[in-house]
Amino acid sequence: MLRRTKIVATLGPATDSPESLAAIIAAGVDVTRLNFSHGSADDHIQRANRVRDAAASQGRFVAIMADLQGPKLRVARFTDNKVALKRGQIFVLDAAMDKEAGTAERVGIDYEELINDVKPGDILVLDDGRIEMEVEEVDERSITSRILIGGPLSNNKGLNKRGGGLSADALTEKDKQDIVTAAKLGADYVAVSFVRTADDMHTARALLKKAGSSAGLVAKIERAELAHDNDALDAVIEASDAVMVARGDLAVEIGDAELVGVQKNIISRARILNKVVITATQMMESMIENPMPTRAEVSDVANAVFDYTDAVMLSAETAVGDYPVEAVEAMVRICTGAERHPSTHTSGHRMHESMELVDEAIALSAMYAANHLDGVQAIICMTETGATPLLMSRIKSSLPIFAFSRHTSTQNRVTLYRGVQTVPFDSQQLPNEEVNAMAVAELLNRGVVEEGALVVMTKGDYANAQGGTNSMKIVRVGSQIR
Ligand code: PGA
Ligand code: MN
Repeated sequence: MLRRTKIVATLGPATDSPESLAAIIAAGVDVTRLNFSHGSADDHIQRANRVRDAAASQGRFVAIMADLQGPKLRVARFTDNKVALKRGQIFVLDAAMDKEAGTAERVGIDYEELINDVKPGDILVLDDGRIEMEVEEVDERSITSRILIGGPLSNNKGLNKRGGGLSADALTEKDKQDIVTAAKLGADYVAVSFVRTADDMHTARALLKKAGSSAGLVAKIERAELAHDNDALDAVIEASDAVMVARGDLAVEIGDAELVGVQKNIISRARILNKVVITATQMMESMIENPMPTRAEVSDVANAVFDYTDAVMLSAETAVGDYPVEAVEAMVRICTGAERHPSTHTSGHRMHESMELVDEAIALSAMYAANHLDGVQAIICMTETGATPLLMSRIKSSLPIFAFSRHTSTQNRVTLYRGVQTVPFDSQQLPNEEVNAMAVAELLNRGVVEEGALVVMTKGDYANAQGGTNSMKIVRVGSQIR
């Protein structure tokens, strides 16, 4: 059985050598993530080139996702690089002080408007939740807080507010430059961090378009405001091509207790709105240092598969970890295992909904036929933009969907869709009456269908019309196919 859930792997020093990159791709990575919080434009361009080379030499399709840093708030630096904060002590964030001169009593902050966004009683969280403090006093240059949970704090660590509400814009000046780099390196997806509104996504899309890119846009859901407001969340989802459950910052903002429920809600709303969804952060965290995942991590990945996420993501595990290949192998194993469970094969089929578009009616009918007709082994979808396989992959199924397309951008784009495989195929180069037979022959060649099996096929009358899918055909492998 082909694995359906896709794997996103973050690149970094652990996967920079051509051997190591080739090994994680061979192990099953579908999408590579370039983390623009670290490294120069040149680093990202080189990584992207290495991904294209490695994928091409293995005959694989691997997308590139540029992940923008966004307005992540950070403390400045300490004279001794690191301090120890004790429970009960006072600690001051000081917008006016020397950014290099932090001490255990006081440190600079990069974002001066923070002063307007916090008030006494607010909880500020440092270093991904490792340190917590309660604000006692705010004046025009500083925030004075009492440490609730202490510990070591080093240079440039992240800062969040419990409950959200920090007002920094999603796209910083650096992000705007990085969008140009992402376009230049031919990113298939661009992820926007700390998205607050649909407008953030519209702005990103306009900038991307201006830079000459039509990459898919991913909204990272990591602000409390979106976790607790379904209308705002839906608006962001609709303005995006995909969303990411960015559990790292999200959990810091909303607390860990609600995280799993919020994950389920984001995944289900994205799928209902015909969008793709990635579940991210700390999925295999212990594998940064160990060759085996914990049982809890196994369970976390499997449960994301049961939630019907399109993709699961590795962060530090593949960027800086000691066992990047083992981490990918473990994800492959757990996803494939979870996909054997019958609950991931049967669909409710949106039986009580009506549709507006012809291609949607064909896509969903094809899935209904494939899931309910005995003997079907695969679905073939002739596609220009990938819109039809996207709609198909919103329906649960155990059958592989093969997206046949002549466009490189579509071939790469569909790598993120659950259950969808890329097949490069240029139907325009073939006589019309041979297209279907050639497509089925391709699957027979790949060993994914057998003689006598049925294949469900969809296509449009005009090969290059977008949203033009208007027919479905069911053919038997080995018979005369036209
Ligand atoms: P980050 O985003 O790794 O860029 O912070 C993911 C997350 O917050 O979970
Ligand atoms: Mn984040």
